[in-house]
Amino acid sequence: MDYYSKYINKLIEEFAKLPGVGSKSAQRLAFYILNMPQEQVNGFTDAIIKAKSHVRYCKCCFTLTDDEVCPICRSDKRDHSVIMVVENTRDLAAYEKTGKYNGVYHVLHGAISPTLGIGPNDIKLKELMERLRGDVKEVIISTNSSVEGEATALYISKLIKPAGIKVSRIASGVPVGGDLEYIDEVTLLRALEGRTDM
Ligand code: ZN
Repeated sequence: MDYYSKYINKLIEEFAKLPGVGSKSAQRLAFYILNMPQEQVNGFTDAIIKAKSHVRYCKCCFTLTDDEVCPICRSDKRDHSVIMVVENTRDLAAYEKTGKYNGVYHVLHGAISPTLGIGPNDIKLKELMERLRGDVKEVIISTNSSVEGEATALYISKLIKPAGIKVSRIASGVPVGGDLEYIDEVTLLRALEGRTDM
């Protein structure tokens, strides 16, 4: 890519590192940025830097938030005795969008995957177990219906059950391997309402 200036090349290179961005898209995005008004570019870089420096894990549920404790964990209108376990913050957002779930969450930030070398200690599982020492009546496991999601659900269920806490799993019908965030709200709600004991 010697035909561009070194700064353009660098920008293309950075875009190409993003998921789903091939070299052609990277070039298109780089030139798009170069043609943007300066203020808009400043706003864009500012948003990236601010998000990166201000967003952190909620101390309680480990979702990504701007505060020490996220608004859901802080709310006294939520039922803190029901914890829904999800793989990531985007899945949490998908359930929040239904507006019908009133419990709280626990975000694992991944799923157990022996093939990828991701074990129980690589996700926020220990942190979940610590939360269960409190007053918890039910844990709803809403990991994806992928092989990893199912393995994680089974692992968590075996871990929690001896504590005498009810463990349920969202109903299947959620497409296999489908990311929860891409599923429409009605399907998600049906999966939640049709959850079964594990
Ligand atoms: Zn939280």
